[in-house]
Parts: sequence; structure tokens; C-alpha cells
Amino acid sequence: MSVEQVPVQRADFDQVMVPNYAPAAFIPVRGQGSRVWDQSGRELVDFSGGIAVNVLGHAHPALVGALTEQANRLWHVSNVFTNEPALRLARKLVDATFAERVFFCNSGAEANEAAFKLARRVAHDLYGTEKYEIVAALNSFHGRTLFTVSVGGQPKYSDGFGPKITGITHVPYNDLEALKAAVSDKTCAVVLEPIQGEGGVLPAELEYLQGARKLCDEHNALLVFDEVQSGMGRSGHLFAYMHYGVTPDILSSAKSIGGGFPMAAMLTTEKLAKHLSVGVHGTTYGGNPLACAVGEAVIDVVNTPEVLAGVNAKHELFKARLEKIGQQYGVFSEVRGMGLLIGCVLTDAWKGKAKEFFNAAEHEGVMILQAGPDVVRFAPSLVIEDADINEGLDRFERAVAKLTKA
Ligand SMILES: *Cc1c(COP(=O)(O)O)cnc(C)c1O
Repeated sequence: MSVEQVPVQRADFDQVMVPNYAPAAFIPVRGQGSRVWDQSGRELVDFSGGIAVNVLGHAHPALVGALTEQANRLWHVSNVFTNEPALRLARKLVDATFAERVFFCNSGAEANEAAFKLARRVAHDLYGTEKYEIVAALNSFHGRTLFTVSVGGQPKYSDGFGPKITGITHVPYNDLEALKAAVSDKTCAVVLEPIQGEGGVLPAELEYLQGARKLCDEHNALLVFDEVQSGMGRSGHLFAYMHYGVTPDILSSAKSIGGGFPMAAMLTTEKLAKHLSVGVHGTTYGGNPLACAVGEAVIDVVNTPEVLAGVNAKHELFKARLEKIGQQYGVFSEVRGMGLLIGCVLTDAWKGKAKEFFNAAEHEGVMILQAGPDVVRFAPSLVIEDADINEGLDRFERAVAKLTKA
């Protein structure tokens, strides 16, 4: 009973798709664990994890089970009705975090949009129309809607679309003095990634986040952590804020939270949540039963001592080998990051050439990522087998050897 499938190839992309992406030359068709196969049957080791999304790799039995079970039960009812998977997942998120209330949506940008709107709404309700400014970090990334590119600290994503959202100041990341100078009583929120992901896999310093928390408290501003990339186990903790012991007022989660199914959430306290009263905000697909059933399976597997300890052990495996490769071939000045979000900073000789590492790795059968032009990024499954790590790093080393010899 399957739908007729017309053969397609990479060349079709340029014929039918908006050219805002430049996908690799091959088309992945199947995945199992941390291995992926393309149309020609070529097998690759996946260190990219769908950009920090496939938190349990490909076709994890718990996720396939949850999705297919729910697929046979109920797909969608809208928020005119609630549903069991959404309520169960929200309860699990509340039990596992600082949060007392959850808003479900479908992407990181949407979770941040909700977070920023909530922060503005709270300030508007409690302090009036003058308190709406947001302080965010240079080089940060918060998504691609107009509000989220405006808050994001990368002009290449926000320029060229006409007027931006106003009242947003950007300060250098990890610079507490600059943050102090920027925050005032007109600030409604300070927005930070505890680990800057797209900006180059740069973890915050503890004193910076502690200082941000203190500044927010002094100025009646909300602390918003964007954990779209750092969250759901990736840092070796369920959320990176737990590693730092600095609790935000609002947290956005996406990417790993759905394990590959489009899914996101904004977490907050009961006191703040009540400013989003009936009709103030919403999204049709938010809390979709399929997405929430998968999300429930993700948190059940990820939020266990074994998996989280495994993330930290696998971090060490990656780091030791990548540092060795970096030294031997003179390509990395630093290997940084937390858990299974790892960035290799290119040396001056290789600056701007992260894409060449991506291409070389692909040719040797390993999928990696960049984080900007100067950082090679790894964001594999949190349950990647050690054998896959070793095989993938063997292939990566061969890629680096060839690249540096050429
Ligand atoms: C990926 C990312 C986003 C945007 O998520 P989308 O699902 O692409 O909208 C926002 N913030 C951070 C930190 C991200 O890494």
C-alpha cells in the first residue's frame, strides 16, 4: 500500500528546493545507531547527529516503539484539546528541572520566540511599557525568525530583512563587565546559551553565569537560557544549567528533546507562566501527541545515570584522540566543549577552513559538523558505541592526514 516513489537524486535539489541550503553531494537513506547509509549503499559513521538532534542515534528501538505505538493511536488533536503524551512529558520535564510549567512548540526558534515574548510580557505587565530591552551575546544563535535573529548576535543572519526588533543590545560573551555595563532597569531579559553552539562550541565561565543571575535579580530582569543545543543530556547533565548550578527563569529546549522528531519546549516557573494566559500565545502543532510520545521516550532513556555518565566518558575518548590528532597534524589550537558537544578550534594556518575538514571527513566516510568557519564540531548520539567512536575517529584522522598532505 505504499505511495509510488519516483527516483530522486541530489541534482533535483537545485531544481525544486529554495537554495537556502547547500547539502552534501550524497543523500542519506537509512540510519541505524551511529551509522548511516546513502543511496549507493555507502556506509558512514555519524558524528553530526543531525546537528545535535539525534540524541539516541538512528532508529533507537525505544523511540521507534513510542512513535509507532502512538501512530496507531492518535496523531493530532490541536490545543483545543489536550492529550496524554503531552501531559506525561510535561510532568517529566517539571519533575526533572527547575520548571513548574511547560509550553510545547516545534523548533528552537519557536521556543525562543515564546521565551522572549514571555519576558517582554512579564515586564510589560509588572513594570510598564518602558521595560522591554533584551541583552544578548555577540556570536550567539537563537534561531531564524525575525525576533530570534534580532536577539542572536550574528548580523549575517539578521541584516537585509528591513527593520529589526528594537531594544536589543549585544555584548561580548563571557565578559561580565560588559554585561554589567549593558544591563539596566529597562532590561527585561538577559539571554544566554550556557554553551555557545553555532558560535563555536564555547562554554560559559561559571562566574559569568553567576554574575548574570545576580544582575538579573538586581534589575528585575529575567535570565533566559537557550539550551536548544546544550540541553537534554548533551552536556553530560540533563541541562547545562545543572552543571553550573545557575538556574534560569526561562529555558528553551529543542533539537535533542525530540531525538529527530520536530519538537521543542519552553520551561518556566508558575509565577511567570501565568502571564501567558488564555489566548496570549500559541501554536497549532505544539504538544502534538506523536512528538510528545517520542519526547517522553527520549527523556526516559537520556535522564538516567548510566546514559549521562556515558556521555562524560565518551567526551574523554573524543577529547584525548582529537587533541592527539590536533597536535600531530598541527590543525587544532584547542579542543573544547562539554559532554558530546565538542569543538576543535582550527590553528591560524587552517582558520576559515572548517568546511574543508567537513568535506575531507565525508570522503573518508564520517559525518561531522562545523561551528562557523573556524571550528570543527562533533555532536554525535549520546549512546554512540565506543567502537563507532574509534572507527569514526580513525576515518577522521585519515581525512586530516590527507587534507594536510595535499
Ligand atoms: C539550533 C539552535 C536554535 C534554533 O533551533 P531551530 O530548531 O533551528 O529553530 C536556537 N538556539 C540554539 C542555541 C540552537 O543551537
